[in-house]
Amino acid sequence: MKPQTLFCYTCDSDEMHRPLTEEEKSWLRGETGRAKVDEFFMCEAPTCRNVRSGYVKRPFHPVIRIPVP
Ligand SMILES: [Zn+2]
Repeated sequence: MKPQTLFCYTCDSDEMHRPLTEEEKSWLRGETGRAKVDEFFMCEAPTCRNVRSGYVKRPFHPVIRIPVP
């Protein structure tokens, strides 16, 4: 998947999102218990890092943010 502009639920605006790195996918698998996390993107707005999928703007309740490395 390529980086793309998607609506961010927590920013409440359209923002650039990028696919997760392998390290981030590994973290998200542990956090969610999901076996497959390839469909998720991270919001690239400063300090946001909220996670959404390509189709669902708010897949997690509460929202999940990728930790800063
Ligand atoms: Zn955001």
